Amino acid sequence: MKAMMMKEYMKLEIVDIPIPEIRENEVLVKIKVASVCGSDIHGMNGNSKRRQPPIIMGHEASGVIEEVGKDVAGFAVGDRVTFDSTVYCGECGYCKSQQINLCDHRMVLGASTGEYRRHGAYAEYISIPAHILYKLDDAISFEDAAMVEPMSVALHAIHLLPPVKDGCLVLFGTGTIALFAVQLLKLQDFNNVVVVGRNHKNLQLAKELGADLIVDSTQEDPTTAVMNYTKQVGADLAYDAAGAQSTFDSAIHCLRKGGHFVTIANLTPEFTIDMLSLITRQLTIHGSCASNGENEEILTWLKEGKIRTDYVISAKISLEEAPEYLLRIHHKEIPEFQKLLILPEGTGPEKSEQSF
Ligand SMILES: [Zn+2]
Ligand SMILES: [Zn+2]
Repeated sequence: MKAMMMKEYMKLEIVDIPIPEIRENEVLVKIKVASVCGSDIHGMNGNSKRRQPPIIMGHEASGVIEEVGKDVAGFAVGDRVTFDSTVYCGECGYCKSQQINLCDHRMVLGASTGEYRRHGAYAEYISIPAHILYKLDDAISFEDAAMVEPMSVALHAIHLLPPVKDGCLVLFGTGTIALFAVQLLKLQDFNNVVVVGRNHKNLQLAKELGADLIVDSTQEDPTTAVMNYTKQVGADLAYDAAGAQSTFDSAIHCLRKGGHFVTIANLTPEFTIDMLSLITRQLTIHGSCASNGENEEILTWLKEGKIRTDYVISAKISLEEAPEYLLRIHHKEIPEFQKLLILPEGTGPEKSEQSF
């Protein structure tokens, strides 16, 4: 099969390798659509230490089952599927207490650390343990299905916050996860969602998707804007999908006393914290890791047509085009980039026009 292998940091190559052999509890999936995650783009230079070459990256995808291991129940050849990115053991204390994202033996598809290597979805085929598979309803397209994983990540962070529907939630960032989060918050009846960002076009998009107030932080101080919006009380909740020191600071300062802050973004690996604010205003900070079964809810909303994904798709390309493309995104040669979809079977003449 063809696969995009990262042979060294910053060196991606299309290689011809054997189709993966599956174990008794696994299935072989023919990839239809793989969605490129920002963590792969950022991880290519070795900074994250979780993409140690050689590795086939990619943990957001959909496809069709081609082969089924002998111990697999409930799935058959020809099933349309997507899958979670976390391979969990099912046996440790965390798994047994329904926190599979915190599994002691957690492996991530398309990632390689010092301890494990698990090839991912930037390839024609992938082997997947059956316990992380999700069957797709006919109403769900392969493209939408390839983005169930990042949408689940966006939803998991919301689930970590206490429910305060009539309170105010401030969302920092306007990237893919942030825009998914806007839709998910509105689906759960959050009535006062303030989105803070620096990209005018994406802020407008956030507004279209239901944001109650947008704040351009290049024009306006986010804390002042949130204080005015909440009649000087402050927001109940903050959600950081941007991951910069400045958004972290703003999040802490625009919260009301007793407020909660969740973060999923670590563009900057270390932050300084205003400890006086944190302690005297009794704030709670939550880190949010991957997702914990939120995929089911996302698939239900997709089936009901309640979530859009079209607006985040920047381009659709073939596997052969992917190495150069990923490097160009890494070097920020393509501005305003959101989601890149890789279609290993090719993009077809009518689709390739949507490429840059
Ligand atoms: Zn991801
Ligand atoms: Zn476990």
